[in-house]
Amino acid sequence: MDKSQTKITWHGTVVSVQPRSTVWRYLIDNRTHRECGFNIFLKGSIMGGENLLPEDHEGNYDFSIAISEKQEQKLEIGIGDELQGTAWTKLYSGTEFADLYRAGSLKKIKAGDNPVKPEVVLDQDHPRYDGTPIPRVFSDKYPGPAWKMLPPPLEVYAWRGARMLSRSCWKGKCFQCIWANMANVTVEYNFDTNNVKHRFETFCYGPKNCRFYKMGPARSVPYYRMSGVKDQGWLDEICLENRSRPEE
Ligand code: SF4
Repeated sequence: MDKSQTKITWHGTVVSVQPRSTVWRYLIDNRTHRECGFNIFLKGSIMGGENLLPEDHEGNYDFSIAISEKQEQKLEIGIGDELQGTAWTKLYSGTEFADLYRAGSLKKIKAGDNPVKPEVVLDQDHPRYDGTPIPRVFSDKYPGPAWKMLPPPLEVYAWRGARMLSRSCWKGKCFQCIWANMANVTVEYNFDTNNVKHRFETFCYGPKNCRFYKMGPARSVPYYRMSGVKDQGWLDEICLENRSRPEE
């Protein structure tokens, strides 16, 4: 085990729950999103590694923890819940956005304001290519934006797809929305030398007609000996191709 990792215990109140994802980029030919759990953002304290966390989260939260889909579904973690548990500090700070991961001994001390659990509808009218219905959540049935509900299963996110979201929206009006996302991104920089670059990017899985939405500036996608390559947003259309309607 890497000696630089530290196991800590923590306690706090949830201020946001968002999907955790990895994104692989290759020029503007490919942007593949993979949803792999949830990030919970908390106001609270940690014991055993305080000096290992960044100090400044611009007031939105004190620390964030990566949890699994199973952990999210078992405890139904939502905004306002008071939680405690253990977690580990990061092995690679440049590849993982959450401050802490490998969460354990998760316990809900006090439930929040009983956030809405959205209904997952199996859409028979717009099925997958093999005829299987697509699992959907129709955001317009619930108050928002921002949608401060319990998050649906990751499968729902995967079928919705994500589009680029401005970082200032992510930090501001969108921060508590279940459709907001800070992704761990790998940019394929040179296939021949297996050279990649890592960074974090903000995305939105929410309705296409959300009034809070702003894409932000086009994003540079660097590649060896190429310059000026930018994701201008047209990959978003491909990523959202399975949506049934803009209000979804
Ligand atoms: S833009 Fe996206 S993340 Fe922001 S409030 Fe709307 S749906 Fe939620």
